[in-house]
Order: sequence, then C-alpha cells, then structure tokens
Amino acid sequence: MIAVLKPNTTIEQRSHLIDWLKGQNVDVHISEGKEYTVLGLVGNTSNIDVELLQSLSIVSSVKIISEPFKKANRKFHPENTVINVGDVKIGDGSCVMIAGPSSVESEEQIIDIAKKVKAAGAKILRGSAFKQSGSPYEFQGLKADGIDMLIEAKKETGLPIISEIMSINDLAVFENVDIIQVGARNMQNTELLKELGRIRKPVLIKRGLANNLKELLMSAEHVMAGGNEKVILCERGIRTFETYTKNTLDLSAVPVLHELSHLPVIVDPSRSTGYSKYVEPMSLAAAACGADGLMIEVHEDPMNALSDGASSIDPEHFARISDKIRMIREVIK
Ligand code: PEP
Ligand code: MN
Repeated sequence: MIAVLKPNTTIEQRSHLIDWLKGQNVDVHISEGKEYTVLGLVGNTSNIDVELLQSLSIVSSVKIISEPFKKANRKFHPENTVINVGDVKIGDGSCVMIAGPSSVESEEQIIDIAKKVKAAGAKILRGSAFKQSGSPYEFQGLKADGIDMLIEAKKETGLPIISEIMSINDLAVFENVDIIQVGARNMQNTELLKELGRIRKPVLIKRGLANNLKELLMSAEHVMAGGNEKVILCERGIRTFETYTKNTLDLSAVPVLHELSHLPVIVDPSRSTGYSKYVEPMSLAAAACGADGLMIEVHEDPMNALSDGASSIDPEHFARISDKIRMIREVIK
C-alpha cells in the first residue's frame, strides 16, 4: 500500500502519521519527490483502515498495490537506483559493458582478455570460477583459484570484477569480488538470496530459464528484504519452443522491468542466443531498448574455450559492438 502526502504536509504531521502506521505493525519507507512525499507501507497492511487513512487531511491519495514486491517496486522508489562499482555507475542512463570469458581458465588468459576488453570499452570484467554446467563431464571451473586469478586481472587493469556464486559456503572467497552473480539456475535459491541480503555488495540476479518477471522481482525482493538494496536484474533468455537459438531473449523484459522497478536491468546476449553470430544484433537491440548494461562473453580463442566457445566473440568483435552501442545510446538519449 502507498500513501501520497499532500505538498504542504509538515514534518510533524508526517512523523505523527508514520508513528501511527508503525503502531499498526507496518514498516514505512519514505520517498521524497519534488512536490509529493510517498510513504511505502511494507509488511502486513491488512489491518490498516484504508478509508480512515484516505480521510486524513494530509493524505492526497492511497493506493493498494497488489505487487508482492515492495522494495524493488518503482512505486515506492520513483528514482532509478544507481549502483556504484568502483568508478562505474550502473543505472545512471549509460549502457555499461561487462565483458570477459565464460570461465576463468588461467591467470595469463584472464589478464590478457581483461586488458583487451578494457581497451575495447568494457567497464567491468566477467569470468566464472564456479561453473553452472549441464554435465558433470564438462569443465567445472577453477573455483577459488579462479577467483584469485580474476582478482589479479583486476589489479592489472583496474576493472571491477563480477563472478558467479553457487553456494553460500563460498562467500568468503568472494570478499574482493565487486559484484556477485546469482545464475539463472539459482534464481529461486532463496537461502542463497537471503544470505546475499546480509552483505552490502552488489548482487546481479539472472532470470531463470522458466521464470516470469514477477518471480525475478521476488528474487530481488529476497535480497533487498535482508537490507541489501544493491540488486541488478539480468535478462538472459528464457526457454521456449524455439530451437534455432539456445534461449529466447525476451527484450521486452527491459522496458517492463524498468516500469515495474527502479533497479538497473542488464542484458546477456551471449547466454540467451547461445551463438556468437547473434550476439551483435541482440546487443544493439538491447542497447536500443534501454538496457543499463550488457554482459558479453569474450574469448581470445573461442574455438578452444573451455566453456561456451559457441557464444563467445573475440575482442576485436567486442570492440566493434562497443563502438556501435555508444552511437545507439547517443541517438536514444
Ligand atoms: C554465466 O553467465 O556464466 C551463466 C552461467 O549464466 P546463466 O546463469 O544465465 O546461464
Ligand atoms: Mn558461460
């Protein structure tokens, strides 16, 4: 439920109302706009007498909102959330390029690719060390050693790093990782999400293969309810009947999530299409529909990548895409 206060409401009147609302066992989130102040009532609002609230002289309007996500909801927080990662801002209107290999393979590999993607416009380096794999016979990742190598690449280039966590038992290993990624297959691992709500580091949550956007927002809510409001949403394609692509990239997720939530939304054109040849057109489309960033798999030698060679592009191609994205963002400003 939200209550919009009239423009001339005094601080005393507002505090008085908030105390009363808190007495009804709801949490109150205050969002001050230029004219109106919006009170977001979080928790069990069923005891609140809506008509009584509506009748108060300082209340302009009351809205009962059905969305079960409150903290992620734009209604309570009209301004975009901007997440700072080092000097990089995600959600400020720019399209942040996140690039790197699917997997960290060796220290030389990750440092080399980090330098190349940085030169080509990447602002954040990606690389998985704990791998989600479809088969136990595939490369499973270098685990904690891989994270150490990623940290070395960060030291060499200054690029902040993002990597996927699979188990909360590994959290300590992620201490120097700038953004923790929750993979599509863990999107509804609520115990993991709740633990990530206790930390104060940005968390990127990928949409599950068969999850709708409300479920993605509820996953964000699990993290935010714990007090960690630094959540980034990521559209990475969903499973449909189509077989010419690995997944179907639902680009409408970008404007829909932007409408529903104040959180930044990034797009992964690599995982979604599954093929390097489709990465460029879908990156450009994602930039055009307002994505706050792109996460792209880049490998020096895709033919010999230890994972996801099929969807990986080389650094030169990444550089060309980055240039085009800059032009697109100029046009849609
Ligand atoms: C990845 O980004 O490396 C990854 C495994 O992505 P997803 O969870 O979207 O499949
Ligand atoms: Mn991958």
